[in-house]
Amino acid sequence: MSQQEFMIGIVGFGGMGNWHRELIDSIEGLTVAGIYDIKEERSAYARDLKIKAYANLPALLSDPKIGLVLIATPNDVHKSLAMQAMAAGKHVVCEKPVALNSMDLNDMIEASRKYGRLFTVHQNRRWDEDFLTVKKVYEEGRLGEIFRIESRVQGSRGIPGDWRQEKERGGGMVLDWGVHLLDQILYMFGESKLNYVYATLTNVTNQLVDDGFTAWLTFENGIEVLVEVGTNNFVSLPRWYVLGVDGTAVIKDFNESGKIVSAVGKDDKDVVPVRTAAGLTKTMAPRREDTIKAEELPLVKSDVKDFYRNIMAAMEGREEVRVKLAEISRVMRLMEAVFQSSREHKVIEFET
Ligand code: NAD
Repeated sequence: MSQQEFMIGIVGFGGMGNWHRELIDSIEGLTVAGIYDIKEERSAYARDLKIKAYANLPALLSDPKIGLVLIATPNDVHKSLAMQAMAAGKHVVCEKPVALNSMDLNDMIEASRKYGRLFTVHQNRRWDEDFLTVKKVYEEGRLGEIFRIESRVQGSRGIPGDWRQEKERGGGMVLDWGVHLLDQILYMFGESKLNYVYATLTNVTNQLVDDGFTAWLTFENGIEVLVEVGTNNFVSLPRWYVLGVDGTAVIKDFNESGKIVSAVGKDDKDVVPVRTAAGLTKTMAPRREDTIKAEELPLVKSDVKDFYRNIMAAMEGREEVRVKLAEISRVMRLMEAVFQSSREHKVIEFET
C-alpha cells in the first residue's frame, strides 16, 4: 500500500480523460490535481465537477504538486505532450496507441531516459477478465497443446466520426483496437518469438482510415493466432476461440459467457453420417455426447485499478512498471508490420 498521496494532472479531458478521473476517484493514494484541455467546454465541465482546469499546459506542468501526468488526447499529440511533461520533470502515463510510429516512440523513450522519468502506456485491456481467462487456459494447459487462438472484436457502427477517422491524427482500427488485441497476445506469450505476420485491412465504411483488419500471427511456440477487428459486422463471431489438441474453449463476449468442450473418449466407431441435401459426411458428424464433456470457463477476476496502484508502487521504487517500454515498442513494431503486410500483400518476417 502506498505511503504517499500522489497528485495527477490530466491532459485531454474528453471521454477517456473523464473515465480516468472516475477511476482515480476510487483509488486510495491518488488524487486528480486538475486537468488541461484545449476545449473550453471540457474545462467548464471539469469546473462543474469541482476540478481545477488549468488555463494552459505550462500552468499544469509547472504545478509542483503534480508528480504524474496522464495524456488522454487524440493520438497525434501524445508525443509532443508526453515529451513536454517529462522535460518538466513529471512521470507520464500515456493513452494508447502511445505514438503513431516507432520513430516517435523512440524519441519518447529517449526523453524518459534523459529526464529519468517513469513512462508507460495505459494498456488497460491486459486487465480484461475475458483475456485473463484465456491466458489461464493457455498457461494451465487445459486444452492440451494449443495450436490456434482467434481473438476478435466486432461491432456494426463503423468508426466514431471524430479524429478517429483522420489518418494524420492516428485514426483507424489497427491503432485503436489492434493495439489492445495485439498487446494481449504478445503479453500472453511473453518470450516466444513472433516469426511471421500477414494482414489485410478493410475500408468498408471509411476510405480515409482502416475500419477493420485481419492479422495472422505465427509464433515460434507453434501457435497460430488470428486477430480480427470489424466495425461493419451485424452478427459477431465469438470474442475468443481457442483450439487445443484435447479440446476447444470459446468466450462469446466481454461478459465471458462461454465454455470449454473437451474429449473424454474416442468416437471413431459407429459414426452416424450427417446427410445434407446434397451429400453425406462422417468427418463433420457431431460427436456422441458420451465422448465429450462441457465445462465452465476458469473465470479470472481482476481490478483495473491495479494499473495505477502499480504506477504508484513504481514511483516509490517498490515495484517494476507492469507495462514495460520494451513491450510497448514491440507492439508498435507489430502494428507497423500489419500495415506493411497489407500494403505490400506479403508475409513479414518479424522475429526470426
Ligand atoms: P476525445 O476526443 O473524447 O477526447 C480527447 C480530448 O483531448 C478532447 O477533449 C480534446 O479537446 C482534447 N485535446 C486535443 N488536443 C489537445 C491538446 N493538445 N492538449 C489538451 N487537450 C487536447 O477522445 P478519447 O476517446 O477520450 O480518446 C483520447 C485518448 O484515449 C486516445 O489516445 C484514445 O486512443 C485513448 N482511448 C483509450 C481507451 C482505452 O481503453 N485505453 C479507450 C478510449 C480512448
